[in-house]
Amino acid sequence: MGLCPFHGEKSPSFSVSPTKQFYHCFGCGANGNAIGFLMEHAGMSFIEAVKDLAQQTGMQIPEDDASPQDRERAAQQRQKQVTLTDVLEKAALAYAKHLKATPRAIDYLKGRGLSGQIAKTFGLGYAPEGWRALASVFPDYQDPLLVESGMVIEHEDEKGADGQSKRYDRFRDRIMFPIRNVKGECIGFGGRVLDKGEPKYLNSPETPVFSKGRELYGLFEGRTAIRVAGYALVTEGYSWAQPARPTMCKSSSASPTVWSSASTATTPGGAQRARRWTPPCPWPPTHAA
Ligand SMILES: [Zn+2]
Repeated sequence: MGLCPFHGEKSPSFSVSPTKQFYHCFGCGANGNAIGFLMEHAGMSFIEAVKDLAQQTGMQIPEDDASPQDRERAAQQRQKQVTLTDVLEKAALAYAKHLKATPRAIDYLKGRGLSGQIAKTFGLGYAPEGWRALASVFPDYQDPLLVESGMVIEHEDEKGADGQSKRYDRFRDRIMFPIRNVKGECIGFGGRVLDKGEPKYLNSPETPVFSKGRELYGLFEGRTAIRVAGYALVTEGYSWAQPARPTMCKSSSASPTVWSSASTATTPGGAQRARRWTPPCPWPPTHAA
């Protein structure tokens, strides 16, 4: 028995039977098999769920219309995505550690109404000052993955004394908000200055894992609250770092959730994802801007 991920509870009523290959919640009645679980819990489509399971168990889904080259390319692409999310996850853990050791950053968050519990739930962190703080996390600072993941900026036409292109951390002296996809993988960051610096907000660039138009900040963290409430409110813009407050306060308890977009505008792609968890709405919950 474990805590049910579908209805927000304090005492466990969720069971999984490995032999019968299904899950059942005695509290809310949620039940199904592995594919159904991924569709319900992670908001995947049937095809996505089947592919995800196959990939986890090392099986390949035959795709009639895909050539061997296409399949090879798709496999490589997925491998690359996994590698990039690993890099980002590692950075997120390091930032979270730095936050704990930086009273100035903790004070800033507290001043904005964010508790330690919220910081933990959302994996908030702090990117230290200094141009190469990430070098202590990634010993090979020249690794191309650091640039590809958007964590490091490279100036190709400026060479250092060692003949290599100049590189430095994209995020410095900022509160870090890890942005997660529906599977919970870290795919990018939003960084906010603590004081008066510019720009006030800085996001990860578009990468093979981060497409701003497709993602909504807080969707992963708020999914249970959204399901319980049966609706979700999407706010748009960079407001998410500030209204991160309503977002975070509410989704950390099991009450209706407000969360917001990782892009500058709420997009159909992002809203589509949110709707997978909510029943059809009598009023338009989002606009298609
Ligand atoms: Zn339940």
